[in-house]
Amino acid sequence: MREGDRYTEKRTILVDKLLKGGEIRSDEVRSAMLSVPRELFVPDLLRMEAYHDRPLPIGNGQTISAPHMVAIMAEEMNTRPGHKVLEIGTGSGYHAAVISRLILPGGHIFTIERVEGLAIKARRNLDLSGIDNVTVVEGDGSVGLPEQAPFDRIYYTCAAPDIPASVLDQLSDDGSLLGVVGRINDVQRLVRFSRQGSWTSKELLTHCVFVPLIGELGY
Ligand code: SAM
Repeated sequence: MREGDRYTEKRTILVDKLLKGGEIRSDEVRSAMLSVPRELFVPDLLRMEAYHDRPLPIGNGQTISAPHMVAIMAEEMNTRPGHKVLEIGTGSGYHAAVISRLILPGGHIFTIERVEGLAIKARRNLDLSGIDNVTVVEGDGSVGLPEQAPFDRIYYTCAAPDIPASVLDQLSDDGSLLGVVGRINDVQRLVRFSRQGSWTSKELLTHCVFVPLIGELGY
């Protein structure tokens, strides 16, 4: 079997497992996860482990998120074609790659990463995967990306002490934000903030563990 076929087979097995486990619920998220080659987003030495359902080290003390967490967040975001999205914490670029498939045609993701080396690698990973609707910005995402606001969706891939009003204000009038809130090295909460004009509601979705958001409005 060719190397590429072996990865496709492993990807299909993982996606089937996430469907059975209920983390994937829609055809859209299933297709998005089947179409992104996670093996291109992990370091070469870890490629054989790309389809284990767990985070993996990507350098600079950071990790690529576990596939089940990417699937859960993709389902909870309820994205639509054409959406403009902000991701806070690019890491390897894998999570943004999956979300980028869900907003086609016409959608675009801005993703912000504070570590220069990771931002450079993420751009390369996205290029190698043939993904052209993601812009990787280097900087402190704890303040959001006001120059590109408003966004239909915003999501965090690192844990913040709280979600500041100045970032919520970067949502469009009917936009929503998935935030990871909680202390470092503790169980955190995945929370959805939904905007309806001047009202914002808040729901707890599940518990999770992410690396900390470091920056002006982070840790
Ligand atoms: N979801 C990503 C993936 O699939 O590879 C993994 C994201 S990783 C768990 C969290 C990332 O957030 C790290 O790369 C970290 O450097 C970044 N980060 C932490 N604080 C940040 C900040 N203030 N602004 C931008 N990125 C930040």
